[in-house]
Order: sequence, then structure tokens, then C-alpha cells
Amino acid sequence: MKLSQLGEFGLIDLIALREAKRSDTLVGIGDDAAVLCPKSKVQSQKYTLVTTDALIENVHFKRKGLSFFALGQKALAANISDIAAMGGVPTHAVITIGLPRTIKVEQVKEFYRGLNHLAKKHKIDIIGGDTVASPRELVISITLLGEVEKENLLLRSTAKPGDLICVTGVFGGPASQKYLIPHTPHLVRLTEARFIAKAGLASAMIDSSDGLARSVLEICKASKVGARIFEGCVPAAKGATLDQALYGGEEYELVFTVPKSKVQSLKSKVKMTIVGEIVSSQQGVKLIDKHDKIKPLKSGGYEHFKR
Ligand code: ADP
Ligand code: MG
Repeated sequence: MKLSQLGEFGLIDLIALREAKRSDTLVGIGDDAAVLCPKSKVQSQKYTLVTTDALIENVHFKRKGLSFFALGQKALAANISDIAAMGGVPTHAVITIGLPRTIKVEQVKEFYRGLNHLAKKHKIDIIGGDTVASPRELVISITLLGEVEKENLLLRSTAKPGDLICVTGVFGGPASQKYLIPHTPHLVRLTEARFIAKAGLASAMIDSSDGLARSVLEICKASKVGARIFEGCVPAAKGATLDQALYGGEEYELVFTVPKSKVQSLKSKVKMTIVGEIVSSQQGVKLIDKHDKIKPLKSGGYEHFKR
């Protein structure tokens, strides 16, 4: 079978069939980060979080005209966003770079300047990595560790029918800019995510790296629920179409669910928009347009191997 038939998400589903066996693996494959409760931490009030993300030249970015400083920031930001989506804070990173001979030392230095800048800002220690040659394209892989107080952990799998679906920020900005450059990562919602987690009002959370529609579908899949998204409520970025806002991706915003009774209290503290509600799984995941017409929510977003 060809990879393009299965797609990235179909392939991950295949891989995920192997269940976690160790008692200290609380959450394995299937959330924004894995959640571990190491034995030494059983008495502690915190879980360890682990996430990893790769950036590949000509898939995620083009080298021509690229700011290596921005690339360094973006590579780390994508990982920070996954730790944030669990309600946690990032702590330690390991960085692997595969370098073609055509890369200049100055470019590697700029990449690390960007990376270190963001690491310093969020008090992340870079504790190791690997440096290897790559035949043609630049490859970056970062693994980030983090921690979260047990009571602040937020999963994708705990949304309930009746909860409202809320988001930070606006959507479709990166998709409406036609070029493939790393977008400024100041939009990583670590502060907001921590606030949402500590408030103890949300029931589930995910980051929107693969697009708003995809995030809602992932919450629904993990929580075994359905959803209704109201087209008219989706906050689109200036110049972005509704399709770009729903299916574009690369925003690194937060998508989270909040029980109806708690939403006012959270709304007074965090800048957020309500875009829909969680319903039972039988009702499916639907889009409601301005004329109250029900349409299916497409999976959309970027999926590796599919194009
Ligand atoms: P995110 O976009 O939040 O980084 P992904 O969609 O990349 O999440 O991954 C979804 C889940 O699948 C995560 O738990 C991730 O760790 C896991 N996963 C992805 N690729 C692999 C792989 N090759 N082997 C094992 N687990 C994987
Ligand atoms: Mg994620």
C-alpha cells in the first residue's frame, strides 16, 4: 500500500495500535504530548510531559530567503505549543540537526540564536542533541520535556457533550499568506494555556497546529463525542477566507472545551471566542452555516503524504 492512500493520520492510527505497557506511562500516543508519572514522582505533585516535532526543508519551509533566526524560533515554538496544550510548562530540550553541505556556519549560528532566544524566554535548558550530515535537505527534530501539576493536566480525551468549544486568537493567517515561511512564534499561547489550566474550568485542550477543523476532530475522536461548529462564530484573520480559517493550520492557537456553566467565569479572564459546542458522538462533527444548514466538517488541514 502507498503512504498516500493511508495519509499521516491513518499511519499514526496504525502505529498507535501498540498500547502502553508500563504503569508509569499515563498517556502514550494520541495527545499533544505523552504524560509520564515516573516512580520517583509518585509522591510528587507533578507529571512529566514529552513531545517531539520535526521540520523538513521543502516540506515545512523553503531555504531561499529564509530567516534562520525565525526557523530556530519556530522549531522550538511548535514543541512549546504542544506542552502548553497539556496545561504544562516546558523545561528541557534535545535538538537533532541533519545538515546538508550547502548550509553555512553562519546560518547554523543564526538558527541557534533564534532557538536560544526562545529557550531563554521560557527558561528551557537545551540539554543535548545530535548533529549529522544530510544528503540534500535540512532536517530539524526537537524533543521537548515539560511538567504539569497533576491537577492542571488537560487532555484531548475528556470533552463532554454540552461543553462549549472555545479558541484563542484568529485563524487562517498563515494560510492566507501564500509563501511557506516560518510565522512569528510570539503567538505561542503558553501564558494563556497556563491560565486556562490553572483556572481549572476547561475539560479538554489541544493546540491548533494542523488547523481548527482538525483540532476539533481530534478532540472528538479522543473524547468519543461529536461537535457543532458555527461558521459565523469562527474568528478569521484579516484577509483570510472561512476555508483558510477552518482548514489552514500553522496557527499554534489553543482549542479547548469548557462546561457551559463555567464559560462566563473563564471568559472574563482569558481573551477567547466560543465557536461551537460538543454534542454526542451519534450526531457527528458538523458545521452549521449562516442559514442554519448543517454540513459535515471536513478534515482539511495539512496532512503529510496526502499531497
Ligand atoms: P501534534 O500535531 O500535536 O504534534 P501529531 O498529530 O503529530 O500531534 O501526533 C499525534 C500523536 O501521534 C502524538 O501522540 C504523537 O506522539 C504520535 N505519533 C506521531 N508520529 C508517531 C510515530 N512515528 N510513532 C509513534 N507515535 C507517533
Ligand atoms: Mg499538538
